[in-house]
Amino acid sequence: MAHNEAVDVVLVGAGIMSATLAVLLKELDPAIKLEVVELMDSGAAESSNPWNNAGTGHAGLCELNYTPQATDGTVDIKKAVHINTQFEVSKQFWSYLTKKGTFGSCKSFISPVPHLSFVQGDDGVSFLKERFKTLSKHHAFSDMEYTEDKAKMAEWMPLMMPGRPADEVVAATRVMNGTDVNFGALTNQLLQHLTSAPDAQVKYCKRVTGLKRNNGGWTVSIKDVNSGNTREVDAKFVFLGAGGAALPLLQASGIEESKGFGGFPISGQWLRCDNPEVVKHHQAKVYSQAAVGSPPMSVPHLDTRVVDGKKSLLFGPYAGFTTKFLKHGSFMDLPMSVRAGNIGPMLAVAKNNMDLTKYLVSEVMQSMEQRLESLRRFYPLAKAEDWRLEVAGQRVQIIKKDPKKGGVLQFGTELVAAKDGSLAALLGASPGASVTVSIMLELIEKCFPNKAHGEWAAKLAEIFPAREKVLETDAALYRKINAHNNVALELVEASNETESYA
Ligand SMILES: Cc1cc2nc3c(=O)[nH]c(=O)nc-3n(C[C@H](O)[C@H](O)[C@H](O)COP(=O)(O)OP(=O)(O)OC[C@H]3O[C@@H](n4cnc5c(N)ncnc54)[C@H](O)[C@@H]3O)c2cc1C
Repeated sequence: MAHNEAVDVVLVGAGIMSATLAVLLKELDPAIKLEVVELMDSGAAESSNPWNNAGTGHAGLCELNYTPQATDGTVDIKKAVHINTQFEVSKQFWSYLTKKGTFGSCKSFISPVPHLSFVQGDDGVSFLKERFKTLSKHHAFSDMEYTEDKAKMAEWMPLMMPGRPADEVVAATRVMNGTDVNFGALTNQLLQHLTSAPDAQVKYCKRVTGLKRNNGGWTVSIKDVNSGNTREVDAKFVFLGAGGAALPLLQASGIEESKGFGGFPISGQWLRCDNPEVVKHHQAKVYSQAAVGSPPMSVPHLDTRVVDGKKSLLFGPYAGFTTKFLKHGSFMDLPMSVRAGNIGPMLAVAKNNMDLTKYLVSEVMQSMEQRLESLRRFYPLAKAEDWRLEVAGQRVQIIKKDPKKGGVLQFGTELVAAKDGSLAALLGASPGASVTVSIMLELIEKCFPNKAHGEWAAKLAEIFPAREKVLETDAALYRKINAHNNVALELVEASNETESYA
């Protein structure tokens, strides 16, 4: 009988998650044998593609939904602080790779773009003021500036201030140290770096169609999308980094931990402007507040994007409903994911989230003129001819069992791992690509605990001199690491005072 091919690790999907995990594993164990399997003909063809996401290096600097306000007016900054330090962990990995010299230039994937928050009306202004007061006391946000002065705002956001009523009440905060990240370029750079090492392959136009337990791990069935031929590969560890399609694969694995999960797909659209005369007047990512009743991922923002050395503007996202789990997926994705174990939570979410469903349907039904009206809240003088509608990536939000409500909709990400650590899947989509490295470190600790605390510990400490928890509390160390990363990633120029931690 013919034997299957055997590798140590199979990673499903060539997006930012698999690419990061594969490179990280290869750094920790250069002898590891791994294969990335991707159904499209290139890397980063789904959510990680630069035009399918907003490219915000999420660091909690401008996203108002990361700092909820309680009824007594106080603002909770825990989530913003955590995401900020997670992003700093991502930057440590990218700095480490860039410094190796064989990874290529960081300029292709990360650019300095100030992060701003902009609010309108008395309630918005008092919230932003309180948020600024609380956040700016934390070392990760000490550079944040606040203003209600319209002349200053016109300097910060020249496109956004002309054409506003003279009596409009507005306020803004700014952090100069924000970024735009081309996650597609980063993914492809990671994949190229990966395959320059021995025993690391990326196979395109191949779909993973099945997963079966074997003695030492998993047998993965892989179908060639062009020829229809199927081969089987044995792997000790499998990562389901299939983006929106991770859920059906997790279900196919049959692991106990997969039971009860469902998916709620939300599509997106943007308005995009490439007119250089408009683009040159906006150098920022400006986030505002979501409309009442809308989900967190529909917080509107007007963004500078830097893709392949060219600048554009992106406004949105406009959310929508579809039954596809991937942009290039099938309308049968959602119905095919219904199981005896998740139908209860899915029905409970459908019943308890009618407002969300109505909101998504109304978003889908919007005319171009209505979309431009939303844009003009940001950029009052926007001209229709400068903007075109583009389809963004899919986000499959997590539906989970809940003892009280039957099922709940969750807007974060969740790493689901088999008890024996032989398989893991990433569900959900937010805050997404920016915090990939933290999520993959969590995976390594969950699925390879002995190695993480044994033979890989020294290398992990070399790549990551400071992890999230210590960065949250140690101001001096945070400043040192942040300054080092900003120089290594060419986000600021090196100064004599910049210390090295190497
Ligand atoms: C509208 C929108 C805006 C966003 N904005 C931001 C942002 O500003 N900042 C941020 O940090 N994050 C953002 N995100 C989130 C971010 O894009 C995602 O978290 C990230 O790209 C997910 O990466 P991934 O590798 O898990 O998935 P993907 O990039 O989707 O990759 C999954 C891959 O798996 C492949 N695949 C699927 N099924 C199979 C199979 N059976 N066999 C083989 N291959 C398979 C797919 O073809 C795909 O290439 C945004 C997402 C969306 C949709």
